[in-house]
Amino acid sequence: KPMEGRISDIGPRHFGEYLPPVIKENFGKWDYHEIIESGILLHVAQSGAKTYTVRAGTARLMSVTHIREICDIADKFSGGYVRFTTRNNLEFQVETEEAAKELKKYLNDQKFPGGAHKFPVGGTGAGVTNIVHTQGWVHCHTPATDASGTVKATMDVVFDEFTSMKLPAPVRISMACCLNMCGAVHCSDIAILGIHRKPPLLDHKFLDNLCEIPLAVAACPTGAVRPSKIELDGETYKTVAVKQERCMFCGNCYTMCPSMPLADKDGDGIALMVGGKISNRITKPAFSKVVVPFIPNEPPRWPTMTKVIKKILDTYAADAHKYERLGDWANRIGWERFFEKCDLPFSEHLIDDFRDPAYYTWRQTTQFKW
Ligand code: SF4
Ligand code: SF4
Repeated sequence: KPMEGRISDIGPRHFGEYLPPVIKENFGKWDYHEIIESGILLHVAQSGAKTYTVRAGTARLMSVTHIREICDIADKFSGGYVRFTTRNNLEFQVETEEAAKELKKYLNDQKFPGGAHKFPVGGTGAGVTNIVHTQGWVHCHTPATDASGTVKATMDVVFDEFTSMKLPAPVRISMACCLNMCGAVHCSDIAILGIHRKPPLLDHKFLDNLCEIPLAVAACPTGAVRPSKIELDGETYKTVAVKQERCMFCGNCYTMCPSMPLADKDGDGIALMVGGKISNRITKPAFSKVVVPFIPNEPPRWPTMTKVIKKILDTYAADAHKYERLGDWANRIGWERFFEKCDLPFSEHLIDDFRDPAYYTWRQTTQFKW
């Protein structure tokens, strides 16, 4: 029986405490919403109450100073309330359309010393949304590429499509820096995916001291890792062996065992996937398909990757019907035409099962084969 007055939950405070009053009062009782203009949404409740939301992109990784700046904007315009969306946007809610437009102008006027926008307003409707992305070289252990760098470089080339709604339909771009895909790139219109192409290196002399060998063995989804012994400089070391042809370069073993790193300057890079979506509007949800099997890492601006993404986006924008998502457009014109129109070479890595002549077709894969 819970004890009266005793705090038994030491997790975060309930989110309901932080909802703006209009959201609290109409929780679960919303009638409809519409997009007034790029970056401004109107939600209308069954009670007739209205709230206008202004959405602005962020860099996601922020300094405390920058967060204080955001809080000051919330204090000034939206009663001290602000929300972060899963796509790293900020949302401020105001009471009238005039107030929303005034806030949009204010946010668009905020610039960094070099002139770049601090809080560009957009990310709604038939435009590019801010990118869902992962950690990359900043603080994860298995990335094959950087997340922040690739996202910044991409958002810079699609900035016009973020701040306007002139595309045929929404375009969701996502980024994950390894196959573990915590960026959920497998259902995105355009997906940037970091991939390794080499199996883990084995640091035999340290492996048994740094790792629990059974955990490293159990971590491998393809059963490529087994316990082993090795003679080095006259000493016997307990270690592991990796069956290379079974390895799919996922990095799970490295998660368990720091003596099995697989980051590699030449092996690591990016695959691009397109055509996925979660929405079931008009057509069923779909997985993204690999259209570029490998682009080398080119920090800090990833010029090859951004050029390909821009070309795909521009070709889609010019060629698709209204309301047609990127994958629906490629399905309608045929994937052969997609590759031709986007100036992309087609390789065996993009075919469902290249080893079987019966499947030498233009069907696309969500698998990675090297
Ligand atoms: Fe780490 Fe992979 Fe997630 Fe990137 S996608 S943050 S490397 S687990
Ligand atoms: Fe197994 Fe993945 Fe490690 Fe390869 S990278 S050995 S597939 S856990």
